[in-house]
Amino acid sequence: MSRILEGPEGIALGVRRLSEALPVAFPTETVYGLGADALNPDAVAAVFALKRRPASNPLIVHVSGIAMARGVVKMWNDQADAIARAHWPGPVTIVLKKHDSIPGVVCAGGETVAVRCPAHPVALALIEAFGGPIVGPSANPSGRISPTCPEHVADGFSEHDLIVIDGGACHAGIESTVIDLTGDTACILRRGVLGIETLSNTLGGTKVIDRTRDLSQGCDSEPARSPGLIGAHYQPRTPCRLASTDEALGCENARIALIAWSTKEHPASGQIFPLSDSAHEYAAGLYRVMHMADACGADEIWIELPPIGAATEPNERAVFEAVLERLARATQSG
Ligand code: AMP
Ligand code: MG
Repeated sequence: MSRILEGPEGIALGVRRLSEALPVAFPTETVYGLGADALNPDAVAAVFALKRRPASNPLIVHVSGIAMARGVVKMWNDQADAIARAHWPGPVTIVLKKHDSIPGVVCAGGETVAVRCPAHPVALALIEAFGGPIVGPSANPSGRISPTCPEHVADGFSEHDLIVIDGGACHAGIESTVIDLTGDTACILRRGVLGIETLSNTLGGTKVIDRTRDLSQGCDSEPARSPGLIGAHYQPRTPCRLASTDEALGCENARIALIAWSTKEHPASGQIFPLSDSAHEYAAGLYRVMHMADACGADEIWIELPPIGAATEPNERAVFEAVLERLARATQSG
C-alpha cells in the first residue's frame, strides 16, 4: 500500500528511503515526481522498474539550485546560466553534456543530462535534506496520465509500498519545457508553460529552434536522445478522443464523459468535467479532470479542443500549444 505523508514527516522518511536506494514520490510545481538518488544506478534502475519505463527514455535530474546543477554537468555554459538565473526554481529543464558522476542509466546511455530546479518548497527541502541530486520522472506508470496531487500517485502505485510526500495540488499542472543547450543554437525538445519566446528573450533574443514541431529538424549538436517525446503518453484507460466545441455542445450521450471549457451542460451531471478557458488554469486542471473522467465509469472520454485561437498573450498561446501536444498523445491510439 502506498502511503501519503505530510511534508516534514514525509521529508524525513523520504530522505531515509532515498539513502536506501528506494524510490520516493515528491511534489513539484509541474507534476509529482518519482524520486531516487541520481548518483546511484541501482536506485535509478528501481525507478525505471517501478514505472515500467523503457530504458531508452532518459530521466530529469532535480537539483536545489545552480551550484548543484554545475556538479551534474560536464560544463555549465552562459546560456544555461542565463536561463537558470531567470527561471529557476521553475518549469524549465536544461540539457547539457553529463558529468562523469551521473550513471548512464539516468541518461538512457547518452552523453547528455537533463537538469531542473523545481519551484516547490517540499521538493527543494527534500533535495537539500538528502544533500544531492535526485531523478524525478513523473510519478505515474509509464504511458499513463501524469499525477498532479498525491492521491493520483497513490492510486497509480497502490500495490507498492511507496511513500508519497504531500505537497498539495501542482499549480503549473503540465511537465517542464525542455531546452537543449549542448550546441551553438538552443533547441526546444518539449513544450511546457515557459514558451519559446520567453526563453529566446532570456537568451538576449537569440534564435531558439523548436524541435518539437519536427524532431528531424536540424540542431547544431548531435540530436539529443529524447524518445519520450513521441508516441502514446498521458493516456487514460478509458478510450479518449478530441472533440470540437460544436461536438462538445451537442454531446447528448450520457455514456460519454466530457472535459470541456465552453459548457457545463451534459445529460448526465456526473459526466461533465469543466476546465477554464484561460491557458494557465486549463493546464493546471487538465490532468486532474482527466483522472476524474477516467474514474467515472464512462465508455468514452471526449476532450474539447482548447481555445487556442482566443489566446492573446504569446505565453498563453505557448501554454495551449504545450497542452495540445499532451492531448494529441493522450488521444493517440496504439
Ligand atoms: P518525464 O520525466 O516523464 O517528464 O520525461 C522526461 C523527458 O525529458 C524525457 O521524455 C525526454 O524527452 C526529456 N529528457 C530527459 N533527459 C534528456 C536528455 N538527456 N536529452 C534529451 N531529452 C531528455
Ligand atoms: Mg512522464
